[in-house]
Amino acid sequence: NRRFVLAERPKGEPTDATLRLDTVPVPEPKAGQMLLRTEYLSLDPYMRGRMSDAPSYAPPVGIGEVMVGGTVSRVVSSSIEGFAPDDWVLSFNGWQDYALSDGKGVANLGRNPLHPSWALGVLGMPGFTAWAGLKQIGQPKAGETIVVGGATGPVGATVGQIGKLLGCNVVGIAGGTEKCGHAVNTLGFDACVDYKAADFADQLAAATTDGIDIYFENIGGKVLDAVLGQINTNARIPVCGLVSQYNATGLPDGPDRLNWLMGLILRKRMTIRGFIIFEDFGHLYPEFAKEMGAWIEAGQIQYREEIIDGLEQAPGAFIGLLNGEAFGKRVIRLGKS
Ligand code: NDP
Repeated sequence: NRRFVLAERPKGEPTDATLRLDTVPVPEPKAGQMLLRTEYLSLDPYMRGRMSDAPSYAPPVGIGEVMVGGTVSRVVSSSIEGFAPDDWVLSFNGWQDYALSDGKGVANLGRNPLHPSWALGVLGMPGFTAWAGLKQIGQPKAGETIVVGGATGPVGATVGQIGKLLGCNVVGIAGGTEKCGHAVNTLGFDACVDYKAADFADQLAAATTDGIDIYFENIGGKVLDAVLGQINTNARIPVCGLVSQYNATGLPDGPDRLNWLMGLILRKRMTIRGFIIFEDFGHLYPEFAKEMGAWIEAGQIQYREEIIDGLEQAPGAFIGLLNGEAFGKRVIRLGKS
């Protein structure tokens, strides 16, 4: 059983020394347990937070412990009712080949799911995050303008496409012309602005001449700065993530703008609400699964994945994810290396 354990807590960007690959015997299931073999491992920005022992909504991974992560696995052997060998399951087994489970919190995807790995993306946690954050906090109304960063990632791409289905004007923010082209041509966004362009703030202003009613915050930093310049009265900002800051080691230099921001919130009567998807909206998961399942079946939501073969590729692929290297949802496929 190959597994990545946390070797040291990163300062700034994770490095080759952050995680260590080790090999232990494949665990033996006892009564009431099943043995799961990982087929796909999800890579997600929140994993950076789990590497750190700074205060957070979830406890950090301990030094020497297996790195956490969502997985799509197959049942090898099982003594649990409802789980039989060869079933595909959605579980949380972390960065390793095999894991034992008592079945709690594990969803059975059946023998023949059409796209098993999609349960780690549009049909799972990131898709649910987009759906719930936009609908519950964003409260979109037809004709309003939504802006979302990470526009080709699993959360951003889903936010934008749901926004279009609800009749909104959707402007994405992504790194580079290829990703922006994908957002407009494949995902159906009305426009997409490249945050790496020197005149990014001007381009965003030109793309949002009616202002911004909903900013779905995935990014923070200079993207947030540019958005605030265009924000409308009564705007809603679901605060989902701040990925541009996850490797930061301190606050940026410059004047303290906290009171300026509070003044803007007051004048614009903005609603800014953070959320942690399952803590805040877990009860809505069945509703999400039904609605998203129907949209996918009807071909109304597009989904792009970037599959990388080999568990040993996971650390490098994760570092790249935080730097905007992924184009679509990044997933590690095990067993093919
Ligand atoms: P993505 O696959 O979209 O990956 C992150 C993307 O962020 C990169 O691809 C990159 O976009 C962009 N990015 C990184 N650094 C910068 C930067 N300095 N400036 C602008 N863009 C940058 O991630 P997900 O779709 O999985 O997640 C999106 C957000 O949602 C994250 O912030 C994540 O933490 C958050 N999240 C929050 C949850 C919650 O419960 N609150 C649950 C799930 C996710 P590009 O490729 O265009 O360069």
